[in-house]
Amino acid sequence: MNIHEYQAKELLAKYGVPVPAGHAAMSVEEAVEAAKQLPGPLWVVKAQIHAGGRGKGKFKELGPDAKGGVRLAKSVDEVREHAAEMLGKTLVTVQTGDAGKEVQRLYITDGVDIAKEFYLALLVDRETGRVAVVASTEGGMDIETVAHDTPDRIHTITIDPATGLMPHHGRAVAAALGLTGDLAKQAAKVLAGLYAAFQGTDASQIEINPLAITEDNKLMVLDAKVGFDSNSMFRHKDLAELRDLTEEDPQEIEASKYDLAYIKLDGDIGCMVNGAGLAMATMDIIKLNGAEPANFLDVGGGANKEKVTAAFKIILADPSVKGILVNIFGGIMKCDIIADGIVAAAREVDLKVPLVVRLEGTNVQQGKDILANSGLPIVAANDLGDAAAKIVAEVKKAA
Ligand code: GDP
Ligand code: MG
Repeated sequence: MNIHEYQAKELLAKYGVPVPAGHAAMSVEEAVEAAKQLPGPLWVVKAQIHAGGRGKGKFKELGPDAKGGVRLAKSVDEVREHAAEMLGKTLVTVQTGDAGKEVQRLYITDGVDIAKEFYLALLVDRETGRVAVVASTEGGMDIETVAHDTPDRIHTITIDPATGLMPHHGRAVAAALGLTGDLAKQAAKVLAGLYAAFQGTDASQIEINPLAITEDNKLMVLDAKVGFDSNSMFRHKDLAELRDLTEEDPQEIEASKYDLAYIKLDGDIGCMVNGAGLAMATMDIIKLNGAEPANFLDVGGGANKEKVTAAFKIILADPSVKGILVNIFGGIMKCDIIADGIVAAAREVDLKVPLVVRLEGTNVQQGKDILANSGLPIVAANDLGDAAAKIVAEVKKAA
């Protein structure tokens, strides 16, 4: 789960991380009020969307010469003008894709005079199983570009969970950023705050880009991207409230209501499977047969009719789906019950694309009989390979 920059900064401030003062705004009036509460003489008007690259982004409705989604203002009137121009517009950045994202919120912050920009991030490194700190002197830039062009300017330091953060980690980060004296001490303090926030919130990433040195030699977090491990949200009710559903895929939100693990993909074969491992195998075998899955969908071990129907509706809401492959192993749930669910769901949603069903497990014959006697054009498959070959053939035939 991701949150907005202003939410991330408010959170980090609680852990003692230095951030500029600022206020979120949902309207031009609120933006002006927010600006008046800040001292000036420089303000920053920042589009709040769950994507980076806002500064260099372009608004769809404005011309190519218009300013991006992060704008400096030298007066409250200028804040008003920028807010009026940005709110409700669609911002396209390297991270949003061509569709862009509508700007519904702004963050008005104190403007900072920047002397230098760094990159600092904490994330879970799956290779070492540790929290890794990534530091670079090349701040304010797209870190993927830095990693590609000048990999030697990226330093990674991992933290042993048995010891937690130690003073030497702070020194290593300061050295990686070329900081000495008081600035090195400040870097260690920023790192300590970020690490405490990371641990305290079960974060999966905290990315600061840029971490700035101000003209008066203070380290300051100017941009923060924070994501949490969704599996831990049950123990962070306060953080769960920061979720902004308008930033998420509507089908994924619908799926989460039914406790379905759904992830939209780019292909055209919808998959409905029980068990994450079987879902992965199903996607693999679709690819092996020369097609691409339209989604990952795990209906879970105890899928009932209601869940199966919801899953069908979610798959069919994706206009790129040209066929559906149902691959269910009836273990906890018996095959006849699943077949009943599939038939009911197929009737309810008025299925117009080919449907191939592979059932295996308890009461498999009863299940197959239900499908065969349903009068619906359901193609039965015997095993995984057969099922994938059949759905790919059906989709080709229909095209
Ligand atoms: P992003 O483009 O989505 O990564 O948004 P950022 O918050 O990182 O802002 C983009 C750029 O705007 C930063 O890299 C800075 O160069 C600049 N910027 C952001 N805040 C300030 C500020 O307070 N003062 C100045 N002078 N520039 C800023
Ligand atoms: Mg940034």
